[in-house]
This record gives sequence, C-alpha cells and structure tokens, in this order.
Amino acid sequence: MLSCGRGECQLSLEEVSRRIVTAETDAGLQKGSTKLIAVSKVQPLNRVEAVLEAGHRIFGENRVQEASGKWPQFKAKYPDTELHLLGPLQSNKVRQAVELFDVIHTLDRLKLAKSFARLAQEIGEIPEMFIQINTGCEPQKSGILPSDADAFVSECFKLNLPIIGLMCIPPVNEEASLHFALLKKIAERNGLPSLSMGMSNDYEKAIAFGATHVRVGSAIFGERTREQV
Ligand SMILES: *Cc1c(COP(=O)(O)O)cnc(C)c1O
Repeated sequence: MLSCGRGECQLSLEEVSRRIVTAETDAGLQKGSTKLIAVSKVQPLNRVEAVLEAGHRIFGENRVQEASGKWPQFKAKYPDTELHLLGPLQSNKVRQAVELFDVIHTLDRLKLAKSFARLAQEIGEIPEMFIQINTGCEPQKSGILPSDADAFVSECFKLNLPIIGLMCIPPVNEEASLHFALLKKIAERNGLPSLSMGMSNDYEKAIAFGATHVRVGSAIFGERTREQV
C-alpha cells in the first residue's frame, strides 16, 4: 500500500481490533484484555493523526529522537495518549526517554537498568518496563539471553525497577510460536504478568500464546515507506 488516507487507516485499525477480539475469544480471554500498541514509527503524520482521530490512544515508537519530534504536539492535543518505547535505548537518552514515554519495552542490559534506578531515586517515578529477551540468541539483536534472564530479572528487582513483563522479537525465519512459548515460560517462572509479543504478521498467534501487549505497525498504517531497524 503506497498511500493510506484517513479512511484507510481507520478501517485497518477496525479490522485489527476485530481480529484481536476474535483471538481473545478463541483463547478464552476477556474481550479487550490485550493492549494494542499502534506502531507509528516512520509513518506520515496524517496517518498517525487519523488513528488518533479514530479514538486510539496507545502508540509505539522505536527511537527517542523521532518520537520527540512528533509526540509532544500530539500529546498536547490528545492528552490521554500512552506512548511505548519499542526500540533500543542508548544510556545517554534515558532521561529524555523517561520524560516522553509511559512504558519502556527494551530494558536489555545492566548499565541501562542502573541508569533507570539512579533516575528513579532522583525524580521519584519512572515508567513501567519490559525486559527484552533475545529468544533466538541472535548476535545482531539486543536483549538478554534466555539463559541469563532469571539472574537479570532479580538484578532489576534488587534495583527496585518497575518491571511488569518480558518482550521479544522472534527471528524472521523461525516459527514464532516457539519463541512466544519460551517467553511465557520465562515470565511465569519469574512471576512477571505481562508479555509484549506479536507484530503485524503474527499478533493473533501471539495472543493465543499469552501476549498481553501486541505491537502492530504496518497492518494499521500501511507499509512503511522507509525501513527502520
Ligand atoms: C516496527 C516494529 C513493530 C511493528 O512491526 P509491523 O511488522 O509493522 O507490525 C513491532 N515491534 C517492534 C519492536 C518494531 O520495531
């Protein structure tokens, strides 16, 4: 899809929302129990505004820099918007991220955990967080290795970080279910209630495997004209 006018994005949002309800029902979950994060990275502002106008209020971005260029204005106009950080975070952007985002999905190393802990002491409150797990053990991907996950979770609890769950991005060429199941297992044994998993291609499957947060971009907004890793 090259263009996505107002109407198209709103229809896509409705379609995704409908499919989520079906997936919830099939999994024996209550309707509306899954959070749909509309991933607006790289999308033209008119598409993002169309989805805001349709009443959606939960969005995700990959980069602090990009998000800080558009979300302060959108948040001023739509104050109940909840913004999630889904991309890797550099330590020197922690303060900016805390000011802009309501939830961080990509806590992936001890240095970052310590920066958040220091900031929490200074300002009192910091966003809720997911720990990113590199379930496929891919060298180019960030995230804690599954074998290190339990130890990392307990380090984060010692630092009093508000960890609510785990997040993963399965390898592109592997069956996602195996990764969703692994993430759920690690979360359960660590007493973590939330799972951030599932994107445009597999969000229904992710819900069947226990996702509480799905991150859907192109299925709502149309293909991104520029890719961003
Ligand atoms: C881009 C991105 C998404 C959304 O991807 P789509 O395939 O467009 O749904 C979800 N999660 C993360 C971490 C992303 O970077």
